[in-house]
Amino acid sequence: MADFSLTLNDDQLQIQKWVHDFAVAVIRPAASEWDEAEEFPWPVVQEAAKIGLYGFDFLMNAMTDTTGLTLPVAIEELFWGDAGIGMAIMGSALAAAGISGNGTPEQVMEWVPQCYGTADDVKLGAFCVSEPDAGSDVSSLRTRAVYDQATDEWVLNGTKAWITNGGIANVHVIVAAVEPELKGRGQASFIVPPNTKGLSMGQKYKKHGIRASHTSEVVLDDVRIPGNCLLGGKEKLDAKLARARERGHSGEKQPAMATFEATRPSVGAQALGIARAAYEYSLEYAKERHAFGRPIIMNQAIAFKLANMATEIDASRLLIWRAAWLARNGGFKNAEGSMSKYKASETAVRVTEEAIQILGGYGYTREYPVERWHRDAKIHTIFEGTSEIQQLVIARAISGLRIE
Ligand SMILES: Cc1cc2nc3c(=O)[nH]c(=O)nc-3n(C[C@H](O)[C@H](O)[C@H](O)COP(=O)(O)OP(=O)(O)OC[C@H]3O[C@@H](n4cnc5c(N)ncnc54)[C@H](O)[C@@H]3O)c2cc1C
Repeated sequence: MADFSLTLNDDQLQIQKWVHDFAVAVIRPAASEWDEAEEFPWPVVQEAAKIGLYGFDFLMNAMTDTTGLTLPVAIEELFWGDAGIGMAIMGSALAAAGISGNGTPEQVMEWVPQCYGTADDVKLGAFCVSEPDAGSDVSSLRTRAVYDQATDEWVLNGTKAWITNGGIANVHVIVAAVEPELKGRGQASFIVPPNTKGLSMGQKYKKHGIRASHTSEVVLDDVRIPGNCLLGGKEKLDAKLARARERGHSGEKQPAMATFEATRPSVGAQALGIARAAYEYSLEYAKERHAFGRPIIMNQAIAFKLANMATEIDASRLLIWRAAWLARNGGFKNAEGSMSKYKASETAVRVTEEAIQILGGYGYTREYPVERWHRDAKIHTIFEGTSEIQQLVIARAISGLRIE
């Protein structure tokens, strides 16, 4: 077990600086352009792959850090650079987490690298859970997976909604119902390998924020995949389904929920990076902007806003680091992952809004980055569990009751 420490080690400090430097030199200068274009920023992701920031090795290195802090530290700097581009770089990690959380070691080694490709041939992964009629309520997925014993294949049918990298990914991880009557306990995760017939991109969404990140529907029309693309294998699934049928409750987590729980501190770190960007920018602005013959920061109304922003940001980081450490060292006890994501997301929305207020009219225009940061922050109270769902998870954990 690693000690919890607020002092980053030499490796972590080096990674923090390395990502920060990339954010300054490559990401920030490109941010506005890709936000306006609303296209996937391939050249930037390729640059990230060339230096090893986008890739299997970096992810593995960060994921095996025993303190758990390397990943949130790197993500904070990445999203400080830009959240749309940051999401384009981090989107494949959710697919990788879905595979690592549910797959056998052999499946992890086969498929996670294919979510990234190589520096010369960059690929993407997509984690597909949500559906038009099932977002928060992941137990009600309608996408069906039916086993065809004659050919040892699984046949997938359904529509996935709001999928990051959906339809442009090399590897799609699909969570589907095998026995819908068992709700979440009747679900399993599947790999759809590259170029599989029947998988197509539906509509591409036009979004409020993180516009450089690609989000679209994924349509599955009689998609046939080999039996070994069931993550975890058939024997394990059969045993799980049998237990669920027998007891009506297996005690096992839904595959999608287990993935989201593990990634919550990372999502909090994304929001934290945006909040810090907006805070730093508005602090400098408040010192320089004069009104009534003095810098606007000399008014308590502005200075206190900045004091609150700094306090909330630090509180968020402490919760994120605690959750990231716990995730590697004994696991969450009281929904600490949800606490960190909830706090950081709400903080990012508030801080970026206050930043616009501090910049006044300029803050409302696209000539300054704070309006983009505000748009980018908002998604964090929605995806990977809305703020209300985080509160539900926390309420259940602290009460031990099945609060509805
Ligand atoms: C940009 C973007 C990227 C995304 N990427 C992915 C992805 O890669 N993969 C993926 O699978 N999904 C992805 N999603 C989907 C995302 O996870 C869902 O949108 C989210 O879980 C919310 O689901 P919903 O939109 O159906 O909202 P709903 O579940 O319909 O919720 C609507 C409102 O009701 C509230 N609500 C619902 N149930 C309760 C309750 N029990 N108690 C209190 N309040 C409740 C919610 O908090 C929310 O405010 C993405 C979404 C977006 C917008």
